[in-house]
Amino acid sequence: ETEPTTAVASRAGNAEQFARAQRSIPGGVNSPVRAFRSVGGTPRFLVSAQGPYVTDSEGTEYVDLVSSWGPAILGHAHPEVVAAVQDAASRGLSFGATTPAETDLAELVRARVVAGGVHPVEKVRLVSTGTEATMTAIRLARGFTGRDLLIKFAGHYHGHSDSLLAEAGSGLATLALPASAGVPAATAALTIVLPYNDLGAVRKVFAERGNDIAAIIVEAAPANMGVVPPGAGFNAALADIAHAHGSLLVVDEVLTGFRVGPAGWWGLENSGSPVAELHLDAPGPVDVPAYLPDLVTFGKVVGGGMPLAALGGRADVMDTLAPLGPVYQAGTLSGNPIAVAAGLTTLRLADAGVYAALDATAATISSAVSDALGGAGVAHSVQRAGNLFSFTFGSSRAPRNYAEVQAQEAFRYGPFFHAMLDAGVSLPPSVYEAWFVSAAHDDEAIGRILAALPRAAEAAAT
Ligand code: PLP
Repeated sequence: ETEPTTAVASRAGNAEQFARAQRSIPGGVNSPVRAFRSVGGTPRFLVSAQGPYVTDSEGTEYVDLVSSWGPAILGHAHPEVVAAVQDAASRGLSFGATTPAETDLAELVRARVVAGGVHPVEKVRLVSTGTEATMTAIRLARGFTGRDLLIKFAGHYHGHSDSLLAEAGSGLATLALPASAGVPAATAALTIVLPYNDLGAVRKVFAERGNDIAAIIVEAAPANMGVVPPGAGFNAALADIAHAHGSLLVVDEVLTGFRVGPAGWWGLENSGSPVAELHLDAPGPVDVPAYLPDLVTFGKVVGGGMPLAALGGRADVMDTLAPLGPVYQAGTLSGNPIAVAAGLTTLRLADAGVYAALDATAATISSAVSDALGGAGVAHSVQRAGNLFSFTFGSSRAPRNYAEVQAQEAFRYGPFFHAMLDAGVSLPPSVYEAWFVSAAHDDEAIGRILAALPRAAEAAAT
């Protein structure tokens, strides 16, 4: 009896898989960072994932610190999430019509994003990717204000729509691309890119062109140039400056939303109680002035590992969307019932215990990495934003913006990454990405990470 070719192919080794993939898929990948270009070597072709582990086509298991780039806060294939997905699938994959569960998810997002009794998300629209969420948010800001200019920050990544690729982080940082070919100059000219954590630069642009600026878009706590937390009060100042000029503040929580805390980064900053270790250069817990975003974008965790993202915010702004208003947005698969089931179940399971576990695991791993690097004599800094963390090499001074991040000894990360991979730990294949823990990272998984560190730190030292 002959086996189906797919079954045979799925057991081929990673190198063979990569060669095969490159014949049919540009670069062999469907998203550039997966190609291992900045760390070298062969990407692992994954065939399954469970809890804190992923398994490749050679049958090798790795402790996973990518967590699907954020969604997997409960660990992979959480039984209740899988059951909810199976149940939804048995009732139909996609209807292209409204469903009760979409309202459940919208209500849950509205209810969860609260701090000090304030709910900045009054209405929610579901889309399929973070790219769509930010793309729609800026179209909405432009349509609502009747203005064209947009401010973004260097090193921030908001997905791959034309307006938002200039000096973007994530894969563009990894591949050292200043922008993408194919974006018309006329479009790029409408996006003003400013250095991060520099309020003077923001004030200057607003003084000159404030009446033409539709919105500032900012990662709530940037994690696509590595993690670079905002200075204390930075986000609140952005809100003040934008609002003083009739512009909107779009806070991008695609990565931080429902990951760094139950109400995302905004929730941490606006909780009213001083919070430790959140802000750049803060000696300890600091008070941060409260602020209100006009629009917030979500992705990753909100879809529980399925293609689902969302934008939300002020009701008067959100109601400018079609069919109520003139700003158009749509999607065949928007609010897909299976994705909604995964997101709903994930959010319902992500309780205080889950966030406590994420925070504790992040603290353990980030401290251990720092100790190992220090022990091997590798100058580095640890950047933390809640339970997100990353490292820069070559200096102990924490970078505050993209230029400072790019000045690091990035070449040290490849050997470190591969030493960890050889020891069975899968890290993000780029120094410009955050490390993602999950609540499924138990003592066994953490122990494997810690055991791998001394040799990896030695590799980074040479
Ligand atoms: N915004 C931020 C802050 C992100 O981190 C990402 C993805 O990494 C996006 C937007 C784009 O989301 P997606 O990859 O789902 O299009």
